Amino acid sequence: MKYMQFLTLGCLLGAVALFAACGASNAVGAPEIYYGQDVCEECSMIISDAKFAAATLDLKGNAHKFDDIGGMLIFHMDHPELQARAYFVHDYDTGAWLRGEEAFYVRAVLPDAPMGDGIVAFAERAAAENFAARVQGQVFKFDELRLNVHLTLHAQP
Ligand SMILES: [Zn+2]
Repeated sequence: MKYMQFLTLGCLLGAVALFAACGASNAVGAPEIYYGQDVCEECSMIISDAKFAAATLDLKGNAHKFDDIGGMLIFHMDHPELQARAYFVHDYDTGAWLRGEEAFYVRAVLPDAPMGDGIVAFAERAAAENFAARVQGQVFKFDELRLNVHLTLHAQP
């Protein structure tokens, strides 16, 4: 009986170690954006404002850089062959990179947004809700934002 318990524990630990190892190899960092030099892959404008800038890594490990979050989402809708492995956006408050899949978004008319119709990201839902209340915007999670962009921005000719 003791031996079986030992075996079970061993398997569990092995599984945990394997899982941790997989997690580590999947930990990817945001690519470096050279502001004022790098060009948005969707709209070809120079990326100048980190608050709105976004980036992805595709499954082959290639980086894609964008001057706004809407452009990032549209680019990947139009390029299913470049499936994104990781999305990166900036926290609007701190400027820190966030994983796009885990961020909270506000879409609103923002005077300084590259496309006028701006999407900004926050690490915390409360921060997104505070900002949304100030600018009369709407809070989205990643999949909700993708759907919203697909139905509105992406639908425009
Ligand atoms: Zn763009």
